This record gives sequence, structure tokens and C-alpha cells, in this order.
Amino acid sequence: MTHWLFPPAATPSLPILGSDRRFPVRRILCVGQNYAAHAREMGHARAEPFFFSKPADALVVDGADPVYPTATANLHHEVELVCAIGEDGSIAGWAVGCDLTRRDLQAAAKDKGRPWDAAKGFDQSAPCGPLTTGDLPDPTAAITLTVNGEGRQAGRLDDMIWSPVEILAKSRELWDVRAGDLIFTGTPEGVGPVEPGDRVEATIQGLEPLSFTMRPR
Ligand code: MN
Repeated sequence: MTHWLFPPAATPSLPILGSDRRFPVRRILCVGQNYAAHAREMGHARAEPFFFSKPADALVVDGADPVYPTATANLHHEVELVCAIGEDGSIAGWAVGCDLTRRDLQAAAKDKGRPWDAAKGFDQSAPCGPLTTGDLPDPTAAITLTVNGEGRQAGRLDDMIWSPVEILAKSRELWDVRAGDLIFTGTPEGVGPVEPGDRVEATIQGLEPLSFTMRPR
């Protein structure tokens, strides 16, 4: 029996469609720049995927609305397919997620060759819908995001340079990926700003949609 100095924080988790059990989240890996259908059709060699991470407690779940973060004047939406790693180490579930990004801080970090943590891994930076278990969504499924009903992002899952299974294999070259890990698999073109009060709706055909309103601070 461990005697904690104070009660440990609750385990972040996702609801599972059709189940009363929840998926306990261990950590969140994210892939950068994974959609470039045009580059592929032009015959460009595909670049190795690169990863960054968000803390598990950056998740915003169960239909909650995230609060507009401090220290940015340019918060961006990135709709993404989220893969959830199950007990056997394979992808056990899928969800629609939004990789919220302080784009101004990311640009400054890129400029100076500094880490992305403050740009990507901030509190409430990972709104995520419920998990759908089972097989990969149809690769031709549409992935979309609207802000206040206006279309911003639209693509197809097979626009991904690296498929979910390939991304999982690549992530294993770098981490001991385990049950409870989530992987955000990158975003199609059309990223843009979200303002306080904006209504964001993100969809992937075959999965439960994700929607939230950005709460003013
Ligand atoms: Mn992203």
C-alpha cells in the first residue's frame, strides 16, 4: 500500500461508444505533417514522420468546452484521427480529436529551434470525442472541420502520408508504446484560427463527431 503525500490526480480517460467502461489514457503522441496528397501524387519521396507529445491531462472529453489558453493571440484548430492502443498493443479504438495549437508560439519555437511543448502540450489542448472500437474506419472516409458552420478543413483519411498502422510501427522505434497510449495522426490542410466563442465541429465518417465551443478565459 503506497502512502501518498496527497491524493494522486485522477487518470484521464475517454468514453467508449456502447460501453459503460472507460479507456484509461497513459499518454498522447502526435504526428506532425502527415497529410500531403499533392506531394505524393507529384512523386516526392515521403519524409519520415516526426512526433511530439501532449500530457494525458491535456484531454478535454465528454463534450466539455475548452478554455481559450493564455499566452497566445493565434490559437489554431487541427482535426485529427486519434488511435487508441489496447491491451494487446494494437489499435483498439478510434476517435475524432483536435490538436489545438498556439501557432504564434510554435512559429517562434521553430524560428529559434526550441521545443514545442508550450505551443502544443498546454492545458486543454486535446479535445477528443468518444472511442469507437473495432476496425480502422474506411480509408476513403472524409475528415472535416468547420468553425461556426464554415468549412475550414476537408480531406480523406487516405490522404495520410503514413497510415495509422505505419505510424504505430514508427512510434515503436522511439517509445515503448503501450495500452492506454493515444496517437494523434496529423491534420489535413486548412488549419486556421479559433476565437473565443467559436463553435468547432469536427467529423470523420464512421466515427462519433467532436464538437465544442471555445470558452473565453
Ligand atoms: Mn497536429
